[in-house]
Amino acid sequence: MALPDMFLQELISRNPITDVVSSYVRLRQRGRTAVGLCPFHGEKTPSFTVYPETSSFYCFGCGAGGDTITFIKKIENLSYIDAVRFLADRCGMKMPDDKTDDAVSRLRMRILEANRDAARFFHRMLYSPEGREGLEYFYKRGYTDKTIRRFGLGYAPGNNSLLHEMRRMGYKDDELTAAFLAARSKRNNQLYDIFQRRVIIPIIDIRGNVIAFGGRVLDDSKPKYINTSDTLVFKKSNGLFALNFAKASKEGSIILCEGYMDVISLHQAGFQNAVAALGTSFTKEHALLLSRYANEAILIFDADSAGQKGAQRAISYLRQSGIHIRVVTIPDGKDPDEFIKKYGPERFKLLLEKSANDIEYQLIQLGKKHSLETSDGRVSYLREAAILLSRLNSSIERDVYAGKLADELNVSKSALLDQIERYRNVAVKNMKKAELSQAIRQNEGVIRKVNPEAASNIRASRAEEGLLGLLILNPDYIPAVSKRLQPDDIVTGFNKNLYIKLLERHKNGQMIDLSFLASDYQEDEMSYISRMVQNARENPGTHEQALEYADIIISEKKMLLYSNPENLPEDKLREMLEFIRSQKK
Ligand SMILES: [Zn+2]
Repeated sequence: MALPDMFLQELISRNPITDVVSSYVRLRQRGRTAVGLCPFHGEKTPSFTVYPETSSFYCFGCGAGGDTITFIKKIENLSYIDAVRFLADRCGMKMPDDKTDDAVSRLRMRILEANRDAARFFHRMLYSPEGREGLEYFYKRGYTDKTIRRFGLGYAPGNNSLLHEMRRMGYKDDELTAAFLAARSKRNNQLYDIFQRRVIIPIIDIRGNVIAFGGRVLDDSKPKYINTSDTLVFKKSNGLFALNFAKASKEGSIILCEGYMDVISLHQAGFQNAVAALGTSFTKEHALLLSRYANEAILIFDADSAGQKGAQRAISYLRQSGIHIRVVTIPDGKDPDEFIKKYGPERFKLLLEKSANDIEYQLIQLGKKHSLETSDGRVSYLREAAILLSRLNSSIERDVYAGKLADELNVSKSALLDQIERYRNVAVKNMKKAELSQAIRQNEGVIRKVNPEAASNIRASRAEEGLLGLLILNPDYIPAVSKRLQPDDIVTGFNKNLYIKLLERHKNGQMIDLSFLASDYQEDEMSYISRMVQNARENPGTHEQALEYADIIISEKKMLLYSNPENLPEDKLREMLEFIRSQKK
């Protein structure tokens, strides 16, 4: 599925990497590069760097790197060819020909078509006699026909009626199981509908594709909810319900609720920036996704202990993504739906406006945990509160809350601030240590996976990486280097293949650029290659240096061969002795 260079070249130049990345990451110009918070790992200080000149990116935190296509692959969770198609659509280019279609991307497309047709079927059923019960359920919740239409709500009757309809429309059984619309019975090996006698909430992504469904029972039977599990087009851990609407609402803030029924009620009441995670607890990926579309998250979670635990979890992930957080507590333990029904949207809006930020919220939760009447209780409350405040990055914030707390408990503010500062020093040290060791672990993990031989051939692989990075940035070094260094001289397998590829491209007069490697290498492999390029960028090497690297590699290879002398023919043995003698000098 090799795409013509001409096509790729145009694709890359018509999708400037800073533009593409800017749709996901807020970038700041820094000299000839642009930096932002990495969308692939949580961080507070930007280490994600975009290089417009080479159409590439590299994260100094987690080591993720590559070209524009690799970026889209990774962030949109697409195959190589689908990422290329994504970029072609983005700039209005036509794909060269459809033979490049591979089986996976065809199946993806079929799943999306099946989902769209299924959503239409469910919606039609809702207004048919069979769907009566479902429609009444939505009416009882107070949803209007307009809301039902807007969200494309539906009803799944029993008796495998979806299966019959989809087969009639020409869908194959494999496509239906891949879409998680049907499953195969273990008992008789027959297909059956996964969603039966349930009201249906379709999940639509920001591009308007139906990617999944949630189904809720109408009685007390279990399970109460069934949600699409991971498919080629849907990943539970990073889907947010109603983000397609919330994204367009331009509020700058997003309301995060627990369930999609709450979300629909809020939208109907005029709060079009409400979203929810889908049948799973809030993840790091959700936080990263959310932070792309909003500066502020307003959390509304149930007052029960599961809800409060969920809120704490969401707070910790959202804090890492650097977004501002507020937490709404609804009086009397009501859910937002009940509150709006009883008091109206205006009162709810007030509730949002005077909601506490996450620190105030967590202080309140801490206060509830300790009995403040006893001095023991007050001491432990103060200690935990000081630890909490020590995590705040802004000294102004720390000062404000320390002041409040000191007043509240009638203690000295400066003593409290000292205490906070002490905790902070420890916390910052630990955080830096943890971040660093995580980055090292991640980088090492990538290398181990991509080029396992590197670990046992450290000197050789370092030289190889140094050389390959130099060659990618300076293809004019290739002729001299290739005269001295044969591919078979390269010690580690991955680097040998990369070297062969570079020589081939150079021989054919093709461009050498990360973008042209993306079709042959997976994301982790691209990260590894990007790291080589990054090192070469930081330590620009001369022609001579490239040749020095080549010499190191050649001698390392010889050492390796000679470490098993019994396998060598006599003339090689002689050569080996000479070599060892020369090394000793
Ligand atoms: Zn990163």
